Amino acid sequence: MKWPGTLSIKQIALGFITGLMVLVSLIGGFAAYQTRAVTRSLELHDENAAYAELKAAAQRLLSQAEKQAASLADWDETRQQLVLPEYYSYWRDQRVYESGMLSGRYVRAALYTTAGLPLGPAPANVHLPARLPFRLPLKAPTSWLAGESGGPVLYRVFPIFIEARQPTPLGYGLIRLEFMPALRHQTFQFTDVASVALTLKPGETLRADALPARLTFRALPDPDRLRFQTILSRTLLAFLVLLLATALIGFVAYSRLLVRPLRRLSADIDAMQQGRFSPDHIRAQGMRISELENVRRSLYDYQLQLRALHGSLESQNREFHSQARRDALTGCHNRRAYEEDWESFREEVRKTPQDVAYLLFDCDRFKAINDTYGHAKGDRVLTIIASALVMALRANDRLYRLGGDEFATFLSRATPAQAKQIAQRCQNLLDAAAFSDLGINEPVGISIGIAFCGADALNQVDELPKQADIAMYTAKQPGRNRIAVYGEDTERASQTLVASRETSALFQALAAPGMIEMHYQSVHALPGRQVAYYEALARIRYHGDLIMPSAFLPVVNSRRLEAEFDRAVLRQVDADLASQQLAPGVGLSINLSAQSISHPEVVSQLLELSRHNARHPLMLEITETSLITQMVEVSTYLDLLRTVRYRIAMDDFGTGYSPLRYLVDLPVDVVKFDISLVNKLAQDNRAGRVVADFARMMIDAGYSLVAEGVESDAILEKVEALGIAHVQGYLLSRPLPLAEAAARLAGQDTGAPCTA
Ligand code: C2E
Ligand code: CA
Ligand code: CA
Repeated sequence: MKWPGTLSIKQIALGFITGLMVLVSLIGGFAAYQTRAVTRSLELHDENAAYAELKAAAQRLLSQAEKQAASLADWDETRQQLVLPEYYSYWRDQRVYESGMLSGRYVRAALYTTAGLPLGPAPANVHLPARLPFRLPLKAPTSWLAGESGGPVLYRVFPIFIEARQPTPLGYGLIRLEFMPALRHQTFQFTDVASVALTLKPGETLRADALPARLTFRALPDPDRLRFQTILSRTLLAFLVLLLATALIGFVAYSRLLVRPLRRLSADIDAMQQGRFSPDHIRAQGMRISELENVRRSLYDYQLQLRALHGSLESQNREFHSQARRDALTGCHNRRAYEEDWESFREEVRKTPQDVAYLLFDCDRFKAINDTYGHAKGDRVLTIIASALVMALRANDRLYRLGGDEFATFLSRATPAQAKQIAQRCQNLLDAAAFSDLGINEPVGISIGIAFCGADALNQVDELPKQADIAMYTAKQPGRNRIAVYGEDTERASQTLVASRETSALFQALAAPGMIEMHYQSVHALPGRQVAYYEALARIRYHGDLIMPSAFLPVVNSRRLEAEFDRAVLRQVDADLASQQLAPGVGLSINLSAQSISHPEVVSQLLELSRHNARHPLMLEITETSLITQMVEVSTYLDLLRTVRYRIAMDDFGTGYSPLRYLVDLPVDVVKFDISLVNKLAQDNRAGRVVADFARMMIDAGYSLVAEGVESDAILEKVEALGIAHVQGYLLSRPLPLAEAAARLAGQDTGAPCTA
């Protein structure tokens, strides 16, 4: 559960310190309050002491005045003055003091008559009452304080008797004391002498016993108390300062030891998340708190492990990626790598214009080798080819296996001369390769198609693969150099390939129906030489001329137009059959390229065409060498076609590598012996005998044989003697337009001889 409003450590620390301060203030306030209460009570105590002391001092002065008064009243010289006041002034101002009766500077004495009047003239500078303020006679002494301009003065008046028992006094004595100076003259322990005051207005009088209450004063503080108080407040202050310092140091330590490291950790974690974390962090200074240091270590270790893991994952990833880009068999780059690299190559070339070349390699008749010697050896052949090519290429060029026996490379910064040189090096290295070690006795060669694009024509880069393909086709033509450069060799070599009459004828024929014209060559049954069926052979009618398959088929093949071409042928054959010019019952054989057999639209067209089967038994001819690709797939389709009553013929038997193999694996009804085999029959040598034995063997195995290209009677006789079922050749008939073939067939029906 998350706390609503998360607090930072610093905030918590500040809160803690604030709380501490408040607590300290409260304690401080309480202590101060307590101290003040104690101080107040101590002060009160001081005041009481001072008051008592002052009261005692005042009392002392009063009783001193009483004593002096009593002494004077008892003294003979005093009575003498009243009786005979001759020396009164002297007595009063000197004698009294010399006798020790009076002491102190502030006290004066004076005598008054029974009438209350001064006995003599008043001394200078001393104010004495001009008359006693009582009703006389006064029996007992009395004291009072009077406000005068110089300050309060204490008076004591006392009667003087001759004898104690006499009823009337002889006169009166007066003691006058300047009260405040006298009082201040006393020693005080608890009272601030300077502060003692008694204010009486001039003329005001005060009874002596009311005196202490009228005194104002300030108590002297008790030094012990002061010391105690000082100690107390110092201690308190020290305590507060200590507390504050502790809080401050605690805060600093807390933020240094905890907050900062935690912040650093947090920042490091953020850095880790954003991938900015470097090993320097790990080596940086550690933390002072062991638990945090442990966390740091674990975190950094974890990060290191993550990095290591990441690194190994990355390298594994790279490994996977490079594996995904490699061809498992040959180790060179695969089709996927090709597509990626070709894309980036084109981009690169667009960015930095340069001469580039594209090389396409294709093993000659590889499938035949594969099927003859087995896949294991076929694989070895491919591996040897690949390593020879890689060796021949420049260090940074990459070889791609596009599939089967086809390889390609694209060369940056390569002139045509360099490209050709590299191609030649490939050829040389392959020629030197020892395939005989594998038990392969036929030469294994490759054809190389080269296309080139100059830095000034880089908008043509995308055309390179197609151009190299065309060049490759040229290179594959019999009798040609096995290296061909698009634009040089292709044009010179064959008008059929590039921008030729044939190319435009073909494209027009594919687009417009009717330009493909089917010629029909009869196939005769032996021994009667009756026409058994016709083979449909395609020609293109172009501006009045007939263009032959040898001219346009290379274009079809190089442009990969096989299926399209076959569909056009099938349309034309359909139209020819629908015209019903051929007599019913006569069969028709149609040539198909192997690529078309598995083409869905060709297949559906064949299924459609099979409706003619009732009137004209149909046969499909597929060249032996072209059958070798996708054997399984092809045989499935052939089976399908046989269910709609197509017969299947293997054409050009004897031109490929392993004819028997296909015979075993493919659902074939008819085998057409190629002209090259048929011609061998005429030879009276081992080759002739082998072919003858071979033919006999196949007949025994139940195949229906057709001998192609029979041009001479000698061969025909040989063929007939061997028991070959059908024969085809110029000797008997050339391929003819439909109408002519139909007419001739009609003639044969009427008994005309069936000869060429
Ligand atoms: P193919 O299927 O082997 O056809 C037989 C070829 O041998 C024909 O050549 C024919 O005119 C020629 N020929 C017949 N008798 C003799 C003879 O006694 N001596 C010699 N030297 N040649 C003879 P054509 O019509 O030029 O066709 C060449 C090839 O073109 C065909 O060979 C076939 O593979 C292909 N082709 C022809 N028409 C079609 C077609 O409609 N579709 C497909 N896919 N290929 C076709
Ligand atoms: Ca044929
Ligand atoms: Ca043939």
